Amino acid sequence: MKALVKRNTTCRACSSSIEQFLSLGKTPLANAFIKKEYFKKEKYYPLRVGFCPSCGLVQLLDVIDKSHLFSHYVYFFSVMPSSSKHFGEYAQDIKNRFVADPKKEMVVEIGSNDGLLLQSFQAKGCAKVLGVDPAKNIAKFANDNGVETIADFFSQKLAKNISKKYGKAQVVIGNNVVAHIDNWHDLAKGMDEVLDDTGVFIFEAPYLMDMFENLAYDSIYHEHLSYLSVSPLVKFFKQYNMDIFDVQTFRRQGNSIRVFVCKSAKHPISANVKKFLNREKRAGLGEFQSYQVLAARIEASKNALSAVLAELKRKKLKIAAYGAPARGNTLLNYCKIGSETLDFATEELKSKVGLYSPGMHIKVKHIDEARKNPPDYYLMLAWDYKDQILKKESEFVKRGGKFIIPIGDKPEII
Ligand SMILES: [Zn+2]
Repeated sequence: MKALVKRNTTCRACSSSIEQFLSLGKTPLANAFIKKEYFKKEKYYPLRVGFCPSCGLVQLLDVIDKSHLFSHYVYFFSVMPSSSKHFGEYAQDIKNRFVADPKKEMVVEIGSNDGLLLQSFQAKGCAKVLGVDPAKNIAKFANDNGVETIADFFSQKLAKNISKKYGKAQVVIGNNVVAHIDNWHDLAKGMDEVLDDTGVFIFEAPYLMDMFENLAYDSIYHEHLSYLSVSPLVKFFKQYNMDIFDVQTFRRQGNSIRVFVCKSAKHPISANVKKFLNREKRAGLGEFQSYQVLAARIEASKNALSAVLAELKRKKLKIAAYGAPARGNTLLNYCKIGSETLDFATEELKSKVGLYSPGMHIKVKHIDEARKNPPDYYLMLAWDYKDQILKKESEFVKRGGKFIIPIGDKPEII
């Protein structure tokens, strides 16, 4: 049997030795909400982050086997309210820029989940779409909904099979997959295989700069194997004669980047790429010392949050968590915030209600139930949806309820 967790000692992009700069302790998997009867069996894994001094890639030192992490993924995009509009605009933009003949040219998506984005491409007239997603239950759902989907991990081998059966792809999309993939070399070889000569690979991922600018360290959890910035990516794809020819930034799950890759010299390189590289250089993203400073700030942020919460408890105020996102579990476990501090966590997804948060075991209540008997303070774990939450909970705020934004150098109280 394969070990569930392996120690990653060399960089997945350039094979140099990695230097650790941060340990968030041992935590369960961030999406593993649990029933009470399984508390004793709960598994913990170290969560440590390192930096490659050679190419600058930030990555986890502890890698959980992918079949354990992703074969039964429970996150369906379609239930997220902001997804549908985002995907519609995204599909239109990509089609305008890169698909000259929508009847013939193929669009492939890796990690296609329930097929919502590919449906947007179909709605814009792209006739040939193909999804790839390892979660069998989700792939079946997509197939039943008219988006042909292969239930597998993307690999060079799968890329060969796709080219043989369906032909080459003009566009390959991989949103929130590059940061999740361990074997980047197999990914790049697969891209080389499946992409048409002028084809493009486009992927989105949380941007490492968010950690420096907003101290969003709660994006660190076991599913996220790498923390992406543009500079290491440019160097990595060069090894495979591929260019990053454009980069965009946008707000989603904090600050994210969208990266465009093509075979060498097949598309003109946008001035954006240089802008990102310069910005990263100015912020010191290529230097180990910057990460030591970052780690110290993260620890100080934890201490500041603990002090605020302890003061509220001393005043006998009621506190609960708003939202139960995966990222919140990194924060709760690292800061050791448990049921002695938080009465419950709210959630809109029925599938999580009644379960307990991994590690700290905060009970998850439906938001409707929480509204009947709200706390004095909400710790906003889903802070990346701050504006929507404040709007939705305007009644709570009007009656004097407060929100604590837990990340940043000091917690913010609204
Ligand atoms: Zn490296």
